[in-house]
Amino acid sequence: MKLYSTNLKAPEVSFQEALITGLAPDRGLYMPKSLPTFSKEEIDSFKDVSYPEIAYRVLNKVLEGEVDDKSLKAIIYDAYNYDVPLEKVDDITYIMRLDRGPTASFKDFAARMMARLMQYYLKKEERQLTILTATSGDTGSAVAHAFYGLDNIRVIVLFPQDEVSDRQRKQMTTLGENITALSIDGKFDDCQAMVKQAFADEELSHLNLSSANSINIGRLVPQSIYYFYAYLKLRDYPEELIVSIPSGNFGNMMGCVLAKTMGVPIKKILASVNENDEVPTFLDCGKYAKIVPSKNCLSNAMNVGHPSNLSRLIAIYGGEMDEIGNISKEPDMESLRNDIYSGSVTDSETKATIKEIYEQYGILIEPHGAVGVKGLLEFRSQTGDNTLAVTLETAHPAKFPEHVKNETGVEPELPQSLKEVEGKEEYMDYLSTDYSGFKKYLQEKLI
Ligand SMILES: *Cc1c(COP(=O)(O)O)cnc(C)c1O
Repeated sequence: MKLYSTNLKAPEVSFQEALITGLAPDRGLYMPKSLPTFSKEEIDSFKDVSYPEIAYRVLNKVLEGEVDDKSLKAIIYDAYNYDVPLEKVDDITYIMRLDRGPTASFKDFAARMMARLMQYYLKKEERQLTILTATSGDTGSAVAHAFYGLDNIRVIVLFPQDEVSDRQRKQMTTLGENITALSIDGKFDDCQAMVKQAFADEELSHLNLSSANSINIGRLVPQSIYYFYAYLKLRDYPEELIVSIPSGNFGNMMGCVLAKTMGVPIKKILASVNENDEVPTFLDCGKYAKIVPSKNCLSNAMNVGHPSNLSRLIAIYGGEMDEIGNISKEPDMESLRNDIYSGSVTDSETKATIKEIYEQYGILIEPHGAVGVKGLLEFRSQTGDNTLAVTLETAHPAKFPEHVKNETGVEPELPQSLKEVEGKEEYMDYLSTDYSGFKKYLQEKLI
């Protein structure tokens, strides 16, 4: 597997290198030059097998020659030890719940695979690595859990002290061992800036710092698997499938694009967004303008005014977009529109959808999942296309108890994984936003 950079000014690299470095040296994002394809018969032959087994059969082909079979199988079975329920809403609509992992967010799917693959390569080369990551909540906890207990990697998570919920904080601070939580007296953007500065700091280059953010190709590839799974679990019914994906940075949607490229018969990909509607506008009129600052909506993990994965999408459709959003070559807009539809959902529609899905079907969803559902309903009403559809629930309702309770009157029950952190002791260090203090901290901590 060879990967190229979307900015086209960096050499091609192996999967291992793309995984360990994250961003290409020309600041572009890595994309596979080619992917294996699966015939319909081949995909159908995966029916009746478990989630990890489907993941193994797909990834074994995608990562052929990159990871030995036995290790790959062990990594996958260790990463995917939780349920992936498909809940029926009505005859043509299902909700796939990606909220049953250890941090109750779909980010577990990607983070757990990425962590184990990194560990595999580092162990082989007897190398150590430190992951630095800034988080506004969900990513940090998924990353911390995914890397927890691995030998060759330590993780330092920076979070804004007043901007994460108690529960989010506890998911990062109660682990210990190779996970260090840093409470920063500042905002998410300050944490992000400190991390970026550390990566660029020559005097820290001997510390082997790496990032685990959503632009890493190691996070996208595992996010293609649950689209195979959805199709297979519903396979007696559909020839084709529509998928609605609550989207922010568009990594989840790129996983779906990869799955479609590999042969999963997906008729249309619905990238459903909140009021940050730069992508629907781009698909409508062909002009791209980021939203600065991004709008604060209820589905807060999707408050993204310039999704970094957009340059990957544009690359797949033959165009070129750099990291700041300038398009130097137009993608094939007609095929793009043919494959992808993007609809924007307001906060009031989000709330109404949480209420409606509970009252009509007895199903609890949270704001991100509600954007997915409403995006699908809008698409149907505009096009009259009633093809069987799956919409994704990307977080557990118990992560957003107040919104869920306001609309439904129901207090969502905490899953076991979130309950566990409640009584545990918290460990964290406190720093200001001053870079030199942070630098000194890293130099002392990481010797
Ligand atoms: C990160 C996140 C999203 C958005 O996913 P992208 O891959 O960034 O589009 C949606 N829902 C939840 C709950 C998330 O944490």
